[in-house]
Amino acid sequence: MLIDLHTHTSVSDGTETPAELVQAAAAAGIEVLGVCDHDTFAGLEAAAEAARQAGVRVWRGVEISAQYQGASVHLLGYGCRDDDVPLNQELARIRRGRTDRIPALLAKLAEAGMPIDDVLADFVADSPSVGRPHIADAMVAKGYVADRKEAFDRYLADDGPLFVPRYAVELEEGLALVRAAGGAAVLAHPWGRVSRGLLGREVLAALVAGPGLDGVEVDHQDHDRATRLELREVAGELGLCCTGSSDYHGTGKTGHELGCNTTAPAVLATLAGLVEQRGGRLTD
Ligand code: AMP
Ligand code: FE
Ligand code: FE
Ligand code: ZN
Repeated sequence: MLIDLHTHTSVSDGTETPAELVQAAAAAGIEVLGVCDHDTFAGLEAAAEAARQAGVRVWRGVEISAQYQGASVHLLGYGCRDDDVPLNQELARIRRGRTDRIPALLAKLAEAGMPIDDVLADFVADSPSVGRPHIADAMVAKGYVADRKEAFDRYLADDGPLFVPRYAVELEEGLALVRAAGGAAVLAHPWGRVSRGLLGREVLAALVAGPGLDGVEVDHQDHDRATRLELREVAGELGLCCTGSSDYHGTGKTGHELGCNTTAPAVLATLAGLVEQRGGRLTD
């Protein structure tokens, strides 16, 4: 059974609509597909509807923009009730923070001789917030860079010359919100580029003991082989679930093809059990 638990659609920074994503997943032989757009549940109904026709099971997810000691950390919530008021208020705050910093980013781009104001709207699609990937797409359209990766590597990355900070929820608070909304909480790519070194064994242990972390995304393209082995060992010691996913963004991220990493059926069952216990809503 092919289980890919973390993918994106055009309601955040993926390039395919929820229905297109589900069709692509079906074509790739994926049976369980986690749809985890950044800070929004907006694509889940359309994905679930398409999934019923395509014979795919959609897991309702969200990837929350959190921070730990001031650094960016991504938190996956599975099966959160999407009408939960505190969680929705926080997601709205994050989306507002993302969009509110766009004028400052546009000004920096113009100052650097790369205005994009006239085309940006074409790349936001149906996303309820405007983020750096949309900026990157506009930069590609203008011919300033070849692809999103170059836009981030040269200009937009957290340590890049055009970076403008934005609001993100404190990790512990994000974890508590996911749990209170009935969800299971999994750290996305915890030892990837940005958060490597930050979320060591002791920190993970404290997150398990405190707000109640449930799992870590071990098999992810941002983790090399040695990193996966080491993280799997630590997770085993701490009793954390180990998930795997493509983090598919359509054409927005290369090397993240659907099903390139997968989650074991036993892990899926464990996470489903947690959501059921907590009164969350995972499918349909
Ligand atoms: P923002 O939420 O506006 O701060 O933008 C952050 C998002 O940009 C992340 O959630 C990633 O999906 C995306 N991103 C970060 N680095 C890269 C990269 N090198 N290439 C493509 N997308 C990236
Ligand atoms: Fe993304
Ligand atoms: Fe992420
Ligand atoms: Zn993601």
